[in-house]
This record gives sequence, structure tokens and C-alpha cells, in this order.
Amino acid sequence: MRENIARVYQRIEDARATYQAIQPVHLELAIKTQSAETCGLAAQALADPQFVSSHPILLGQNRVQEAVASAEAVKATEGASLHLIGPLQRNKINQALKVVDLVETVDSLKLAEALNQRVVGGPLPIFLQVNVSGETAKSGVAPAEFFRLAEAVLALENLKIAGLMTVAGRGTEAEVRPQFATMQALRDELAQRFDLGRQKPLELSMGMSGDMEWAIAEGATIVRAGTAIFGPRATR
Ligand SMILES: *Cc1c(COP(=O)(O)O)cnc(C)c1O
Repeated sequence: MRENIARVYQRIEDARATYQAIQPVHLELAIKTQSAETCGLAAQALADPQFVSSHPILLGQNRVQEAVASAEAVKATEGASLHLIGPLQRNKINQALKVVDLVETVDSLKLAEALNQRVVGGPLPIFLQVNVSGETAKSGVAPAEFFRLAEAVLALENLKIAGLMTVAGRGTEAEVRPQFATMQALRDELAQRFDLGRQKPLELSMGMSGDMEWAIAEGATIVRAGTAIFGPRATR
């Protein structure tokens, strides 16, 4: 696993050089479908001194149930953060809040309000998920609705917008890069309109094993990789 992680960090550095991307780019391991044991080993691997000196220990789970099942193994590594990167049903919020450090998939005011009501002990960092591909099967707020949602979420005292997240559509570089560019434009305008991200710039969580280079070219600060680390997933 360490070798695969090292290879992805090399891809990240190569892409930063190729596209003259000056922002720091961190890796989040998408650990869905892995056993709790493997999730624990993944967190340990990220904590290797060769990585952790310049990167946080970030892992993402798609499903609340899997997040719960793997949390103890992940959190055995000091400093490991667990993000939720899949849809959050409102009846799973309490379970999610017990184990998840950040929810990347807030895409409606209803969900934001439900989260806001249940957070205890200080604001929960969240990312707003945007659907930039326009594919109806994908989660995320439409770009045209983004600022309305963002403004409403900013008024919720128990949530803190820490960034934006997307899953792009598949396609060629010419098709996919504009989607990532839209994300960067939304992030920059959000920061400017509401004076956000001065202390810590708003994150852009975008790019996966197949398209991380294009995302980095358009400003990604977190890329989420599963297949590149764990190999192809069994279908479920
Ligand atoms: C599975 C998943 C990833 C990782 O995808 P790969 O193509 O395996 O790298 C990233 N983000 C989300 C939201 C995912 O569900």
C-alpha cells in the first residue's frame, strides 16, 4: 500500500509541475468496500514519516455504515481524519456525527439544517457538494443554485464551510477540465463574496484515480483516490 501511495504522491507532484499548480495538493484515500482492517492499515500507511511530514492523514468513506465500521481502526492512527464523501441520509446523521470529522457532501439546505440541529460541541466543518457535470444521477447542488445554498448555510451557526467537493463526469480532458474550472471559479467567488478562507483557504476536493491530473490543473487541493491505491473494486 505504501508503494501505491508513494506512486500517487508522485503523480500529484508531476501534475503540479506539468500544470504549474502552486497550491498544495493532498491525498484522501477513498476506502469504500475495504475491510476495517485494511482501512486501519491505510491510515497507518499515510502516517509514514515520508508522507505525513507534508500531508494530513485523510480517509474518506462513502457510506455511514462503513464509516462506523471502520472508524475505530482508522482513528487508532493519531491525527487521522475521516470524511464522509457519499450521500448522507437524514436518519443516519447521528451515527455519522459520532465518527466523521467532516462531511463533504452537503448539497441541500434541508440536509444542512438537519446537520446543524444535531451537531454538538463546536461547528462541524463541511464541504458543499456541487454537481458540475449536470448528470442527473450525480449528487450535488447545481452551480446556478450554489450561492443561494452557500449563503443559507453560512447562517447556520453549527456548520462551517471549509470547501467544495465534486465528482466530475467522465470524458476527455477537454470535457472534464471545464467542470473542474467551474469549481475553482465558484470557490474563488465564494471566498470573495463572503470573505472566507483568510485563515485557511477553502479546499477544493476534486479529482479521483482517473482524472486527478486535470483536477490539479484546475486548482484541486484534495484528490480522492481509491482504485489507484487498492486496485479495482469488486462490484456490489
Ligand atoms: C470511490 C470514490 C472515489 C475514488 O474513486 P477512484 O476512481 O476509485 O479513485 C472518490 N470520490 C468518491 C466520492 C468516491 O465515491
